[in-house]
Amino acid sequence: MPRVGVVGAAGKMGKTLVKMIQESPDLDLAAAVDLPGLQVIGQDAGIVAGIGEMGVSIADDLAQVVADIDVLIDFTIAVATEKNLEICHKAGTRMVIGTTGLSESQTARLDEISSSVPVVFASNYSIGVNATFQLVEMAAGIFGDTVDVEIIESHHRHKVDAPSGTALSLGEHVAKGLGRDLASVSRHGRHGLTGARDRETIGFHAVRGGEIVGEHTVMFIAGGERLEITHRAQSRANFAEGALRAAGWIVSQVPGRYDMLDVLGLAR
Ligand code: NAD
Repeated sequence: MPRVGVVGAAGKMGKTLVKMIQESPDLDLAAAVDLPGLQVIGQDAGIVAGIGEMGVSIADDLAQVVADIDVLIDFTIAVATEKNLEICHKAGTRMVIGTTGLSESQTARLDEISSSVPVVFASNYSIGVNATFQLVEMAAGIFGDTVDVEIIESHHRHKVDAPSGTALSLGEHVAKGLGRDLASVSRHGRHGLTGARDRETIGFHAVRGGEIVGEHTVMFIAGGERLEITHRAQSRANFAEGALRAAGWIVSQVPGRYDMLDVLGLAR
């Protein structure tokens, strides 16, 4: 059975992952890690996740426990993931990365490392969102240059990056369907004297508030009609379920960078 490590084990996603690994007959929690200095360091990961003792205490240094695991699941922050990538690279340990907000240079390093260690990196591990990726690409291909495309995302007030990684991935799929380069056509928010809308552009808008788990709408706005494709996440369990599926899958893959469409067998 694959031995799994969870870094960010005391976080919202980390606790959900620990709980669902405990319930999984196919995966074994072998290590849990979080930030040095936190009160939870040394405590049992199961107790911190609210499900009772699991016999794995939360460590504060991945390098000390990396030899005990086959795959690391990382839902933390970009600077932590950058460091964890180097540790897993050195140890030859596979990774499932959910952290969003990675910089260009951090993503480039991830690409380099994935040429020698198998890595799944997905902006969204939910199966519904991955279906949405396919649907928006198809809709973009059908409409072509006859519509304006706007992407609106809503998340809880604690989220530190914008737009969400999922919104950017939706943008990538729309751009692919339209045959455009996302980096040169994306526009983030509008303010002041913006001028008329340029059809080539793909707009992004971020709403933050309360405890919204994650909502994404892609609007295809034509002259006389509007198609909206919306996904609403209702709990973090769906992200954790996808990440655990990815962890079970990546242990038998050759080195490379994969995403959730690969895990689901939907990559084209
Ligand atoms: P959170 O703030 O609740 O948890 C993050 C955890 O990481 C915390 O426990 C924190 O202490 C820990 N951490 C920070 N720096 C660390 C370090 N250097 N070493 C070890 N641990 C460290 O956040 P969250 O809601 O669980 O989200 C975490 C990340 O996952 C975010 O980037 C979020 O956008 C992303 N996310 C991705 C998906 C997806 O499907 N890809 C889904 C949900 C969240």
